[in-house]
Amino acid sequence: AALVASSIGALSEVMGDTQRAAGAAERLLELLAAKSPVQSASHPAALPPRTAQGAALILDDVAFHYPSRPDTLSLTHFSLSINPGETIAIVGPSGAGKTTLFQLLMRFYDPQQGTIKLDGVDIKSLSLHTLRNAIGIVPQDTVIFSANAMDNIRYGRVGASDDEVIAAAKMAAADEFIQRLPNGYQSFLGERGVRLSGGQRQRIAIARALLKNPPLLLLDEATSALDAESERVVQGALEAAMVGRTTLVIAHRLATVQRADRIIVLEHGHIVETGTHASLVAQGGLYASLAALQFNTDSQPSIR
Ligand code: ATP
Repeated sequence: AALVASSIGALSEVMGDTQRAAGAAERLLELLAAKSPVQSASHPAALPPRTAQGAALILDDVAFHYPSRPDTLSLTHFSLSINPGETIAIVGPSGAGKTTLFQLLMRFYDPQQGTIKLDGVDIKSLSLHTLRNAIGIVPQDTVIFSANAMDNIRYGRVGASDDEVIAAAKMAAADEFIQRLPNGYQSFLGERGVRLSGGQRQRIAIARALLKNPPLLLLDEATSALDAESERVVQGALEAAMVGRTTLVIAHRLATVQRADRIIVLEHGHIVETGTHASLVAQGGLYASLAALQFNTDSQPSIR
């Protein structure tokens, strides 16, 4: 039994990586959740009614290490209070814990210490379904399935109607290019179907996330270069997506950090600086040196 338990643990860690790379593994993870080390609450609490601004999020003295690495704290003494409607940009060197933060918010893992509250409710007392329904996630790289465009978006909320899918696509600035595909929403995508550009894939991901109308949006900004036109359209879609939601974005672009209400600078699993772009540059600390390296000009993608 111990062996089985630990291999399931290892599997769930592999799945953690899959989520990171693909985002779309979410549904699969939900299926696996029954066997995962993260337990859905047996008598789940409900979230309060959704507010017009988005969700409030409070992390209180969170500490976390991955099960396979008990000696490495990926987050430590992590406390952060985010108001409904705020946009928080998260920056930090590789390995600082940015992705780990998202994994804990989605409850792919539970922290060993501290609490995470969504609209005042400990996320551990929510069902996994309720929690993950409240969170829209736009990963760096989007998996496009061998299915038509309609179903590729519907994957964000499997029960959604065609009209709901189209409404989400419109908000995500995806409707127009989908309409122009040979068979519109029925066009087959993926390996043996229509190959989408990077910007088109991102808009599919945004539409998927919006289908849930989530009060909390987690964005992992793409590091790959888009042409200027796609860049502009994707940015526009993201801005529309952020209205009425609380947003956490792992930021790789200057335009994003400049727009954020607050920038959180992570290093070695905890927050070392917070402020606006201008205040942090003036401070001349870690952010200033990261910004000098990462962000070239307004419209250019970062070099990583
Ligand atoms: P990057 O910018 O490179 O994506 P990050 O800031 O997102 O980095 P994390 O991926 O959160 O950093 O990693 C934080 C720490 O946790 C690192 O020490 C990393 O090696 C470790 N880590 C990340 N994922 C796992 C995993 N699945 N199992 C074990 N350790 C992991």
